[in-house]
Parts: sequence; C-alpha cells; structure tokens
Amino acid sequence: MIVHVENLTRRFGDRTAVSKLNFRVAPGEVFGILGPNGSGKSTLFRIMATMLAPSEGTIRVNGFDVTRQPDRVRASIGVVFQSFSLDRKLTVDENLVAQGNLYGLSGADLRGRIEASASRLGLAGRRRDLVGTLSGGLQRRVEIAKALLHQPAVLLMDEPSTGLDPAARRELGQYVDELRAAGVTILVTTHILDEADRCDRLLLMHEGRRVAEGTPAELKARVGGDVVVLETEQPERLSARLKERFGVAPSLAGGALRVEIANAHRFVAEAIEAFPGAIEAVALHKPTLEDVFLDLTGARIS
Ligand code: ADP
Ligand code: MG
Repeated sequence: MIVHVENLTRRFGDRTAVSKLNFRVAPGEVFGILGPNGSGKSTLFRIMATMLAPSEGTIRVNGFDVTRQPDRVRASIGVVFQSFSLDRKLTVDENLVAQGNLYGLSGADLRGRIEASASRLGLAGRRRDLVGTLSGGLQRRVEIAKALLHQPAVLLMDEPSTGLDPAARRELGQYVDELRAAGVTILVTTHILDEADRCDRLLLMHEGRRVAEGTPAELKARVGGDVVVLETEQPERLSARLKERFGVAPSLAGGALRVEIANAHRFVAEAIEAFPGAIEAVALHKPTLEDVFLDLTGARIS
C-alpha cells in the first residue's frame, strides 16, 4: 500500500473537520474521495500534502510519515491544489522550469522531463504560450504536468475539475486514464459524480467521517434495484398508499418521492394504474453515487 491513513482526526477549535479516518491506497490505483462541500476533503488533502498537522492519527505516503518525515513525503507527492498555482504571465515552459528549479532540477535532465511531462499531458504545441492565454482545461493540464515533473510516486489533486466545462472535464478524465495506464497512483478529491465514477475505488465522506468505501460498481450495488422518482402534489398521501399497496418505503427528496425497487418499470406501470391522477411525473434511473450517498447519509453530494 502506498498511502496509509490511520485514525486520522483534525480539529479546528471545537469543530472536527476530519474524524477517525482510515483507508489505504494501493500502488497504481486512482482513488477518489467523494463528498459534498464541507465534508473534510481539503483538510485531509492538506494533511497529506504536509501543509497541516493532524490532531490525531497518521498518514504514511510511500512509507514516510507526514509528521516525522515531511521532506520525504514532499519528494513522494505531486500536488494539484484546488486554487490556481501557475504564474499566468509566464509561458508553460517557464512555469515548468521554475518548478523544476524548486526541486533542484536543471540542465538537460530538466529539459528532458519538461518535454516528457508536457507531451504526456498533450501540451507539446503550447509550451511557448503564456499560461494566461490558455483555456481552463489546458491550464489544469499544465498544473498536472508541473506536479509530475519530479516524478512523484503519488499525484494528489484537490477537486481538479471544479470550474471546468463538461468538455474540459471529459478531457481531464482522459488524461487521468492515461496516467493510470502509465501506473501513476492518483488520489483525487471531488464532489462531482462523473469524476468519481472514473475512479478505481472511492471513499465517501460526510461531515469528516467515512460513510462507505468501494469501487463505484460495488457502492451502487448496495442500492436495492433501480431508483424511481415520483412527483405528486400530495407526497405524504401517495407515500402511505404506495407503502400499503407495494410494501415499499419511499423517501422524500426535494419534494418528490424516491423509491428503490427491482423491476422498476413494472412498479411504475402498476403504481400509475393503481392511483390514477395522483402521480404528476415519473423518472426512473439506475443507481448513481448520489443515490448511494443519499441512502447512507440522507444528504446530497451536489
Ligand atoms: P471540503 O474540502 O470537503 O469542502 P474542508 O476540509 O475544506 O471540506 O472543510 C471541512 C470543515 O472544516 C468545514 O466545516 C470547514 O469550515 C472547516 N475548516 C476547514 N479549514 C478550516 C480552518 N482553517 N479553520 C477552521 N475551520 C476550518
Ligand atoms: Mg475542498
């Protein structure tokens, strides 16, 4: 295991941002930390990046302890922060050279690494462009190229697709897939379901705690069947009638009734027939990570 998180807790005054967290990441995995705003993702990220001390517990990265061996941890990680970290008035190459120098790299070695890192992220033709003139998606890729320059064992990214449009998000996903294929271990925090769906394994976080862990498919399999969302003017009444007739336990979400059930198409047809006029609209979908989270916490991710 390349990342070990053990009993990790971080308090700010009387607020507990991260609470007794335990998980491990295997080499080569794309590991996602999924949770809504305020669930403790950035706090965990900052501890892992040696920028913040834990209140209790430990993280080991590549065998090194974040508290006792922060320099060794820093050499083992590449970090892409939630906030922008490039100099917009410099070119792509100049940003990468500055980063290389920070890590004691120079000369032919640095030039070779910049070339490899830039072409890996599809930036070969943009190296002389000022960062400020690039699209948000390209800037993100420059940040990743920068984080990988010293060839870290683990790439950490805090909400990398926040602020990107859907096309740029997809593109970022493709580059993550390429890094995965090249064997890079990636730890990514997100509150975006699509981004989480692309991870090999996920930790779901809510209010600083772990609520579940598994592959996206394993997590979704916990939901009992398909999800049906019924819109009605009288949710309490319809809920009671559905319960009585079908033995289901609808939950109320956003003013609509939500039912998890196998063979949902049959249930929908029967419910509409059984209660004429009571159902305004019906939507049916396969379980998403949002459904998993809703089931486990009663809260939404996004
Ligand atoms: P996320 O990244 O999932 O949105 P954060 O880790 O940023 O969550 O925040 C988790 C909780 O910790 C929030 O309630 C936040 O207000 C609190 N928090 C984070 N950093 C600080 C800080 N420096 N001082 C006080 N509270 C903080
Ligand atoms: Mg955050």
